[in-house]
Amino acid sequence: MKSKDIRKEFLHFFETKGHLIVDSAPIVLKNDPTLMFNNSGMAQFKEFFLGNGTPKSNRIADTQKCLRVSGKHNDLDDVGKDTYHHTMFEMLGNWSFGDYFKKEAIAWAWELLTEKYGISKDQIYVTVFEGDKGDGTTLDQEALDLWKEHIAEDRILFGNKKDNFWEMGDIGPCGPCSEIHVDIRPAEDRAKVDGKSLVNMDHPQVIEIWNLVFMQYQRKADGSLESLPAKHIDTGMGFERLAMILQGKTSNYDTDVFQPTIQKLEEISGFKYGVDEKTDIAIRVIVDHLRAVAFAIADGQLPSNTGAGYVIRRILRRAISYGYRFLNLNEPFIYKLYPILKAEMGDFFPELVKQEGIVTGVIREEEASFLRTIEQGLNRLNQIIEQLGESKVVPGDIVFELYDTFGFPADLSRIVAEDQGFTIDEAGFEAEMAKQKERSKKATALVTDDWVVLDDSGNETSIAYDNTEAEIKITRYRKVKNKKGEFYQLVFNQTPFYAESGGQIGDKGVIISPNETIEVVDTKKENNLIIHFVETLPENVNGTFQAKIDVSKRNATTNNHSATHLMHEALREVLGTHVEQKGSYVGDDYLRFDFSHFSKMTDEEIALVEQKVNEKIAEALPLVEKRESTMEEALAEGAMALFGEKYGDKVRVIRFGSSVELCGGTHVKNTADIRLFKILSESSTAAGIRRIEAITADTAINALKDAEKSYNDVLVALKTKNDAVKAVQSLLDENAALKKQVEKFIAQQAKAEKETWKAGVKAINGINFLAIKTNLDTNTAKQNAIDLTNELENAFIVVGTNDAVKPSITISIAKNLVQDKGLHAGNIVKEIAKHINGGGGGQPFLATAGGKDVNGLDASLKQAEEFIQ
Ligand code: ATP
Ligand code: MG
Repeated sequence: MKSKDIRKEFLHFFETKGHLIVDSAPIVLKNDPTLMFNNSGMAQFKEFFLGNGTPKSNRIADTQKCLRVSGKHNDLDDVGKDTYHHTMFEMLGNWSFGDYFKKEAIAWAWELLTEKYGISKDQIYVTVFEGDKGDGTTLDQEALDLWKEHIAEDRILFGNKKDNFWEMGDIGPCGPCSEIHVDIRPAEDRAKVDGKSLVNMDHPQVIEIWNLVFMQYQRKADGSLESLPAKHIDTGMGFERLAMILQGKTSNYDTDVFQPTIQKLEEISGFKYGVDEKTDIAIRVIVDHLRAVAFAIADGQLPSNTGAGYVIRRILRRAISYGYRFLNLNEPFIYKLYPILKAEMGDFFPELVKQEGIVTGVIREEEASFLRTIEQGLNRLNQIIEQLGESKVVPGDIVFELYDTFGFPADLSRIVAEDQGFTIDEAGFEAEMAKQKERSKKATALVTDDWVVLDDSGNETSIAYDNTEAEIKITRYRKVKNKKGEFYQLVFNQTPFYAESGGQIGDKGVIISPNETIEVVDTKKENNLIIHFVETLPENVNGTFQAKIDVSKRNATTNNHSATHLMHEALREVLGTHVEQKGSYVGDDYLRFDFSHFSKMTDEEIALVEQKVNEKIAEALPLVEKRESTMEEALAEGAMALFGEKYGDKVRVIRFGSSVELCGGTHVKNTADIRLFKILSESSTAAGIRRIEAITADTAINALKDAEKSYNDVLVALKTKNDAVKAVQSLLDENAALKKQVEKFIAQQAKAEKETWKAGVKAINGINFLAIKTNLDTNTAKQNAIDLTNELENAFIVVGTNDAVKPSITISIAKNLVQDKGLHAGNIVKEIAKHINGGGGGQPFLATAGGKDVNGLDASLKQAEEFIQ
């Protein structure tokens, strides 16, 4: 069965069981402070398990793009070394939200695997949760009894909390689970060793493929469990592992999911897969990481220096360095694998087709720049090794610095060191790594208490589009601690505060009761809740408050947001429709917009975009807002859906004239409110991605005022009334003329001085020797020394410049002396410059050294004579 058909069959099967089939959520998560990437099928449904939202259907199935490279689920270290853990993988899953429970979940999993996919029943083992004393849970008898209806009892194993109790995080919904394992060893091996003993023992051919989680608890902050009012089913099956089983292979990499890219890599590198374990690992790492990086970029996560972007950059660099080390690939190559991936998976994941230009451009650029880094790192390391001399051990902090600042992998340092008979201080390196882990743990550490629920009616609505203040009540609150300190998070029954999202910052403001005023320092969204951050908890949390947002900040932000839309449209008009949004920040201070475009914008293009936006402002276009559009209507109107964005059933459409966008942000009632739009800068953030920063309204007007003031200051300084350019030009001309004159004077003076030098030349051992101090500058003195050497025979000229701050010494020796007497100006100057506390060097016939202590000049000149005695 082809992998495409395996996926299709799964979705079809659950469709026939009454499930709604949905798309995979983006691989990169936004608006979830607890998770960077989707790491399981259930992540996109978290809010439903938490009771903060209602799903479209209480039965859903899909295949979810997952990435397990950070946080609680991190498989990175196993990837490539084993044959069944990936960074990016697809998780096939079916869900019940308060609908069916264990009976159906178990029966259907069994039916699908044994009847539809035809996996032999005597290769399957299942596990059941045995209970945990600490948690006060007992054996999952219900699951055990249900399994007994399908599978021989001796194929049911009991598992502990580690394997059979699934939790998405430290707190939140959780429950016991049943895993399904398949033994794919050859029949002889199975006859010899009972597969039972190999379940959950990291055996590459007795592996877990499906986990059925029975969500029935909520883990609280104090570690205790509470029963959930509604019980849910959450299952996840590894697509690549399933393909391995159904295609009769013993490694995920031997399936049609990976073979095409492996073959391409064989072609590019000239190395065959399956010959040598070391190169095999490298090949597996590369074809695995390609998928992780490609899917993340296609979903809008570009490699960067922070957060999720940094994780993606590190994964890509890991692949590059495996290629560099084991496959001798020292030119960009990963981007060349992408077309194969696209051909294989683009049908089901159209983002791979649509984003091809960006994905390959970004990967190629990252590859090229990291390969340069590797070269620099090699040079640096070689320098260090040269200086180490006797010790033969590269210190751990240096290996760490190379790794941390330059991204130079430690294993590469190790190899380079070993090649030259050195080792690296492994313990020291590990210690530095541990320190860094601790630092980043501290930086992201978040301690969250349980919610204290005051009103569980579930009415927690946003009225931010239409209100800047409202009477509110607190429905729940909790304490959180992060690196910035201790906060309380409040949720209101209704709120005028806009929660940070879609690039737009969250509102600030206050809530006021008759006896206190509490400042709201930020507003964010988490699992569909709007959370207000405050530093102190109100005394009377049950009271009624007047909530007021900071209107001037909000208005400034709103101006920037609407201007962003106008600019987006203008960019597409000026540069072309390949321009697509790749990221944005909309604050009260400025706006930043990242978009796809392959070359630097010209000054004319920037001016034209600015002009077009200002024209739309002048046209005073009214806002046309549709809060409850269907996606079809919105697209028909001309709105563009972005990849990597998760849209609900209903979308909000924002229109100003011909600018139409899907947007959840706040907007001006009329474009005239924006008043003025000014681009501050245009730059590049990654291959094929440009960034514009701009300002609007008062900020833009004030910026122009400031510019005007500086201009006026310049006019005053130039003592001119109007034409600054002309005045500056004439200053420049005058300056150039003066410079020429000065150069001429110096040349004359130097020539004259050179004549006086001649008088001081002494004949010593057949050499015309001169050591002299001068007030000329270094370059002129040097030229004089050279000229004099040419005029005299057998000359040896030493000139010291008498400069209190930067004295220098130049030595010029006739070439025949260099040959006959073995003199070396470079070596001599090094020696004599010690008196002026300096250093330098050069060729045998000409060398210069700069120093710091002019008082030593006489001693230097005196010592020079010793070299010809
Ligand atoms: P394992 O113990 O093999 O790491 P897990 O217990 O971490 O698996 P779950 O979190 O239960 O796995 O995920 C459900 C299913 O997803 C697993 O049964 C497996 O088939 C698949 N899976 C999990 N992690 C990976 C991975 N890194 N690469 C590929 N498939 C995976
Ligand atoms: Mg795992």
